[in-house]
Amino acid sequence: MLRENLMQVEENIAKACQKAGRDRSEVTLVAVSKTKPVSMLQEAYDEKIRHFGENKVQELCSKIEQLPDDIHWHMIGHLQRNKVKSIIGKVDLIHSVDTYRLAEEINIQAKKKHIVVPILVEVNIAGEESKFGISREDAILLIEDIALLENIRIKGLMTIAPYVEDPEENRQYFKKIKQLSVDITNKNIDNVSMEILSMGMTGDYMVAIEEGATIVRVGTGIFGQRNYKQE
Ligand SMILES: *Cc1c(COP(=O)(O)O)cnc(C)c1O
Repeated sequence: MLRENLMQVEENIAKACQKAGRDRSEVTLVAVSKTKPVSMLQEAYDEKIRHFGENKVQELCSKIEQLPDDIHWHMIGHLQRNKVKSIIGKVDLIHSVDTYRLAEEINIQAKKKHIVVPILVEVNIAGEESKFGISREDAILLIEDIALLENIRIKGLMTIAPYVEDPEENRQYFKKIKQLSVDITNKNIDNVSMEILSMGMTGDYMVAIEEGATIVRVGTGIFGQRNYKQE
């Protein structure tokens, strides 16, 4: 099952890249493994997946301990300040920074470990009330402030597009966030690059790639439906 799913996702990514005239190497597939058992992550690992995304600190730390060292871990979920120190230095990229206070805490913990931590700023591009992320209007000011923190490097933007039946409905949002990243690049802010655009999930990653995604975060399309009910 998982193997077939991965082949399908890989084929779709290749198709979207081709359509957009992009090289496959420009897009990183992050397998979103939240709620899934370690055995399934191991299966994906055996199929050469090296990037995994998780949204809960405890689950993330437990999986890091149980799986091989050459995995790149992505923190994609809302992060509480009191949990920052548990993941600093263990994850390759934090996708979900949306307040200065959170960035400040990351900076403090990074300084203690003498490391520089790469992050993305999460933008609520559709302005949905139910979602985390800074508004498009406030993103630039936040980025200018975070850029002054010495032990953080802003590498780009992340967004979670609305849940839609037809992925074409999200194209407008992917275009908007791409444009925002270009606007930010043009400001030439020290310590800020816009090399990463983390956007696109199972329902819409092909459209996201066509609009410039460099990271797609695919869960259901690889691991199947999630069951949140406690057994
Ligand atoms: C769960 C999740 C995903 C994956 O969603 P699917 O629809 O299962 O592909 C991607 N990004 C974030 C931030 C998530 O929380």
